Amino acid sequence: MRRVLVVGAKGRVGSLVAKAVKAAKDLEPAGAIDLGDDLQAALAKGRAEVAVDFTTPVCVFDNVSTILRHRVHAVVGTTGMDEDQLARLDGLAKENGVACLVAPNFALGAVLMMRFAEEAAKFYPSVEVMERHHERKLDAPSGTAAETARRIARARKAPPTLTDERESAPGARGGRVDDVAVHSMRLPGSIAHQEVWFGGPGETLVIRHDTMDREVFVPGVLLAVRRIDGFKGLVRGLEPLLWPRA
Ligand code: NAP
Repeated sequence: MRRVLVVGAKGRVGSLVAKAVKAAKDLEPAGAIDLGDDLQAALAKGRAEVAVDFTTPVCVFDNVSTILRHRVHAVVGTTGMDEDQLARLDGLAKENGVACLVAPNFALGAVLMMRFAEEAAKFYPSVEVMERHHERKLDAPSGTAAETARRIARARKAPPTLTDERESAPGARGGRVDDVAVHSMRLPGSIAHQEVWFGGPGETLVIRHDTMDREVFVPGVLLAVRRIDGFKGLVRGLEPLLWPRA
């Protein structure tokens, strides 16, 4: 039985993960904490082997650092950490002989969307990413959009040369992640949605993913919880688990 602590357990995703951990025959709850609870005490008391974090961009780095210092594997869904923070978590995880899996999206369809987009970028350098989330999301662009853009930028040879653009409304052309335009919408009624638009002479290719229910994240989180001890240091996304030789 693998002992699992859930951090952010009253949240929209964390509550589903806590419920799934309780229901799984091969997993045992080692605590379910939220804002105001003592993470160090929960780690000491619950003897967790893996901790899952679905909290906020403000506290995730400190939470995960604490988890790794306690020599507990971390599975992190919370988005918004920068490359410097991820590099520091990699170092902390290695120092403590554990793994830290950070995935911008635990939905299988979203993982495939990023992979397909990376493939298409080799053929279509003109591409823009459009993401839409619920109005309470704190960070922008979404972690999935930022990761998609970074992977596109690595896969394509060079960005296309655009004509001299002028924005009469600042931000009208979106933000830039590694020279890829990313447009973020925040609207009630949305959960998590993304379209990757590729343009070539006379054609458009759109790769789209929609999340209709947050339950979609749970199988990916549980897969990470079950397989994480095969790794050390920072693990980016679910791909190394889904395609072990990728
Ligand atoms: P949410 O409903 O706001 O849940 C976050 C929970 O964490 C809340 O209960 C919040 O409490 C609690 N919290 C805040 N600070 C805390 C702290 N210091 N320690 C412990 N708990 C704390 O958000 P959500 O929709 O579940 O999303 C959580 C994060 O996961 C966001 O960054 C989101 O973008 C990301 N996300 C990732 C994926 C993925 O597949 N990787 C999927 C969906 C969402 P209060 O409400 O009292 O502040």
